[in-house]
Amino acid sequence: MRFNTEVLHKIPDKTTGATNIPIYQTAAYAVDTAEDMANIFKGRKPGYIYTRVGNPTLSAFENRLTALENGVGAVSFASGMAAVAMSVMNILSAGDEIVSAGGIFGGTSSLFRELMSYGITTRFAKSCRVEDMVECITEKTKLIYAETIGNPKLDVADIKSLSDLAHSHNLPLFVDSTVTTPFIVKPLTLGADVVIHSTSKALNGNGNSIGGIVIAGKSAALNADKFPKLAEFKAFGPFMYLARLRARMSTDFGSSLSPFNAYLTGIGLDTLAIRMERANSNAVALAKYLSSNEKIKVSYPGLLSHPDHELAMRQFNGRCGSMLTLRLGSMEKAFKFINGLKLALNVSNIGDARTLVIHPYSTIFFHASEGEKEIAGVTEDLVRVSVGIEDIEDLKEDFEQSLAKL
Ligand SMILES: *Cc1c(COP(=O)(O)O)cnc(C)c1O
Repeated sequence: MRFNTEVLHKIPDKTTGATNIPIYQTAAYAVDTAEDMANIFKGRKPGYIYTRVGNPTLSAFENRLTALENGVGAVSFASGMAAVAMSVMNILSAGDEIVSAGGIFGGTSSLFRELMSYGITTRFAKSCRVEDMVECITEKTKLIYAETIGNPKLDVADIKSLSDLAHSHNLPLFVDSTVTTPFIVKPLTLGADVVIHSTSKALNGNGNSIGGIVIAGKSAALNADKFPKLAEFKAFGPFMYLARLRARMSTDFGSSLSPFNAYLTGIGLDTLAIRMERANSNAVALAKYLSSNEKIKVSYPGLLSHPDHELAMRQFNGRCGSMLTLRLGSMEKAFKFINGLKLALNVSNIGDARTLVIHPYSTIFFHASEGEKEIAGVTEDLVRVSVGIEDIEDLKEDFEQSLAKL
């Protein structure tokens, strides 16, 4: 099945045939007998107990994303940040180290610094390139972490090369694919072991709920020899990482997604392919159009001038996502430009059907040190643009009129 078809392929609700999986808005589930209840608790019988542990609306959502990412299973979470946090804490203990690409999403780099207080150290590489990442690997390294396209640095991770690097050190590769979605790339098929999404962004597409998901593939690197925490779940074989993620991370930390949010995100997911196609072509057109303006510098992996252009075109089958950045020359001009836009919204998220802009330096990265901002490619004059699905001529006109006022 091809992507546009697969993304729409939902199994109707088993009990009613409803074509949209109903919102099972329940905290708990009644079970016929005490014996059944005991067996469900032990994982010997399928069934639901309590929504913090599992819920049919969540299962349907998780199954769809597992299929789209070619994974073996998934666990959904209350937010993208919860998904990132739980994905790594599921296997790491005090004394362990993460090697992370530099220039990742501000919330994630902030989380990785927070994990220091739990004894988990993150070494940030200068970039997501193999030669920079390899320098950070020590005997304590337990996983390698990267984003498909850095937000907002826009550098492109070579997933196949990073997975070869990780596996040659018997390490798993974790990839945040929020910016790309499975429409553009399926990291598990390129060797990644775990894929993470903030479903609040393009997967939802309407900006109406926060959510996150962790999808795992068949992974030799996620084994109980390397990760003692997984030993308890060895009986689950290739599912041991996921079994622990659900039992210890979702259930014990109470970080589960609300069924209502899963329902809304599932509706958004139906139109992912067509939205991504349109947002991509708008981003290409807007980036090309703005490139000729001498007041600004445009960065977009789909432009020939981008350092990772060739890799992006090859790895992403000719599509480069819908995020671009503009450098205006100064913070003052960046602010003035944002304030002058009439159509594009000044908003902190990305991946909405509407075009969104933000000044990352003074917002998402306000707490980061100058050094961290430098690694993240966040300069004072930078504006991040998440291109939506509007009529391209309206976007061009809006950007043009605001630039004309500078
Ligand atoms: C937004 C985002 C997150 C965090 O997701 P939330 O749903 O906002 O918690 C993580 N990674 C990337 C790349 C993001 O853009």
